[in-house]
Amino acid sequence: MTTTVPAPVAPPRRILMGPGPSDIPSRVLLAMAAPTVGHLDPYFLRIMDETQSMLRQLFRTQNKLTLAVSGTGSAGMETVVCNLIEPGDKMIVCVNGVFGGRMADVAARCGAEVIKLERPFGEIFSSEEIEAALKQHKPKLLGIVNAETSTGASQPVQDIARLCHEHGALIAVDCVTSLGGQPVEVDEWQLDAVYSGTQKCLNCPPGLAPVTFSDRAVAAIDARKTKVQSWYLDMQMVKDYWGSNRAYHHTAPINMNYGLHEALRIVLEEGLEARFARQQRNHLALKAGLKAMGLEYAVKEGQQLPMLNAVIIPAGVDDAAVRKQLLNEFGIEIGGGLGPMKGKTWRIGLMGVGACPANVLVFLAALEKCLLEQGVKLIPGAGVGAANLAYARS
Ligand SMILES: *Cc1c(COP(=O)(O)O)cnc(C)c1O
Repeated sequence: MTTTVPAPVAPPRRILMGPGPSDIPSRVLLAMAAPTVGHLDPYFLRIMDETQSMLRQLFRTQNKLTLAVSGTGSAGMETVVCNLIEPGDKMIVCVNGVFGGRMADVAARCGAEVIKLERPFGEIFSSEEIEAALKQHKPKLLGIVNAETSTGASQPVQDIARLCHEHGALIAVDCVTSLGGQPVEVDEWQLDAVYSGTQKCLNCPPGLAPVTFSDRAVAAIDARKTKVQSWYLDMQMVKDYWGSNRAYHHTAPINMNYGLHEALRIVLEEGLEARFARQQRNHLALKAGLKAMGLEYAVKEGQQLPMLNAVIIPAGVDDAAVRKQLLNEFGIEIGGGLGPMKGKTWRIGLMGVGACPANVLVFLAALEKCLLEQGVKLIPGAGVGAANLAYARS
C-alpha cells in the first residue's frame, strides 16, 4: 500500500465573531508552542500554582478548590454536576436555551431526579418562580446558566443563589460565556460550583474548563456515599494533583495549560473592570449600528449579553447565504440560531479581545454589503455611522 501524506495544517485566518471559539491573541498561541515538560516538572507545577491564583482572581473567590479541568466547557459542566449529584438526588435545572438543556441531560445521566424549570428561548427566570420551585421540590442542587450563548440572554444569579441557600440547596452556575466578559462574583454572590471554558471571553483555544467549588460544595462532595461515576472528572482525585500532594491522576495537557496561563495574564493585565467596560462599549456600538440597519435584538433590552448579540434575521433574507458570504468574502464567522431559533437569528460574538472597534466596524460594513445584495433596503453607511457616533459618545 502506498502512503499518502496530506499537506500540513494551514488554516485560513478568520475573524471569529460567532458563539465561540473566539479570536486567539498570538501571545497565547506562542505560549502553546513552548517546549512540553513533564506534568510533575517543578516548572509545570509553578505554572499550575500561578494559574490557580489567576483563576481565583478572575472568579473573584478565595475557594481552595479552583482549577482547570482537562476538557472543554462541557467537561466543566459534567465535572460540577457529577461531583455534586449522587443517584437519586434531586436537581432543579433551569432551561431557557441549549446549554440549560445540556445540563439537564448531564444531570439525568448522573442519576439525578431532574426537575426541569422551563422558559422560552431568549427569556430569563424570575426569582419568584425559582423560589416557588425550591419550596415545592426541595432539591439538593439547582443549576442555571448565567450567559445563555444559544439565545444571547443574561441571567442574574445573585438573588437566586441567596434563595437556594435559604431553601437548603446548592447552586451550580454555567459561566462559560460570562467569565472574563462581565462580572462573575463567586464569593460575593455565594455561588457554590461554577464552571467556564477557555474558548469564549478568555480568548484561549478550546481545551480547558476552569471550575471553582465553595467550601459548602466541597463538604457535599466529601459527604458522598457513592463514588463519582466518572473516573476522569472525580474531583477527589483531580484535586490531589492540583493540591500539595501532586499525586498523578491523568497527564495534564501541558501546552494547553501554557495557553490558559498566558490568556489569564492578558485578562488580568487589562483589569476586569476595564475589560467589562470595553465589552459594554463595543456591544453598544454594534447595537447602534445594527439598529440603524433595521435589525432587532432577539432578547429584551436590559437582558442582553454584551458578548453575544442575537439579532432577528430580516424577512426574506437567506440566513445561510449571508453567513457563507461573510465567511468567504470577509473571513468573518458569525453563528446561526440554535434550537427553535434556527434560521431565525444570527449570533454575533464580541468575546474578550474580539470586542474592539476593528471587528465591530468591519462586521457592520460587511453585513451591509451582504444585506444590500439580498435586496434589503437600507441607507448605505448607516450602520457604520451609527456605531461611530456611539463610540464618540462613550
Ligand atoms: C460554549 C458553551 C458551553 C460548552 O462549552 P464547550 O467548550 O463547547 O464544551 C457550555 N455552556 C455555555 C453557556 C456555552 O456557551
